[in-house]
Amino acid sequence: MTTIREQTITCPACATSFKVHVVGSCGYAGKDTDLRPQYWGLDPLPLFVHTCPRCLFSGYGAHFEAPVSDELRQWLVEERGLGRLQSDAGSRRYTLAARCREQAGDDNLALADLYLRASWCARVEGDAAMERLSQRRAVERFQRALEAGLVPPDEQTAITYLVGELSRRLGDFELATSYLARVVDIDWADLAGRQLDLARQANDENALMP
Ligand SMILES: [Zn+2]
Repeated sequence: MTTIREQTITCPACATSFKVHVVGSCGYAGKDTDLRPQYWGLDPLPLFVHTCPRCLFSGYGAHFEAPVSDELRQWLVEERGLGRLQSDAGSRRYTLAARCREQAGDDNLALADLYLRASWCARVEGDAAMERLSQRRAVERFQRALEAGLVPPDEQTAITYLVGELSRRLGDFELATSYLARVVDIDWADLAGRQLDLARQANDENALMP
């Protein structure tokens, strides 16, 4: 079960203090085939990212504990680089976090991971347009990260699989089959083969891990 507690955190960009819910513990049984865990009880995913109510600086707890550059502060506080808060939905806050980390100079692998999580939140929110937009952004950045050699060897199979599986969900079956067919690692081959069959049948539905 998910447990949460209230905590006050301070924005490293504009020094605003505000209360958030942080996750004490959580667990899951099973995953969707894009690796989204199916948590027991309250879904903790939206609670892992926080958004400053004043300048919209967004990120994980660790991002709030690290100093920010003068350039990032100016972009957030003076130039209002992230605009105004449109919604407090988890998908929106993961997207703000991705834009913040992009401005901070994080690599495409880190950005792709945030967009993947935005898509996971959007699915639970029932926001299909946001889910697809976030999946598209994740696929683009995962592909760039793979091409640039940014993905560590022990993550290459999972990321290759994800590009294929997200492309299948987006209805891009050509890209899906090309990436899923590359997954030969023994631990991933059965799952990739199953999703490859779905892609060849032009099936773009959500699916659960076998
Ligand atoms: Zn702030």
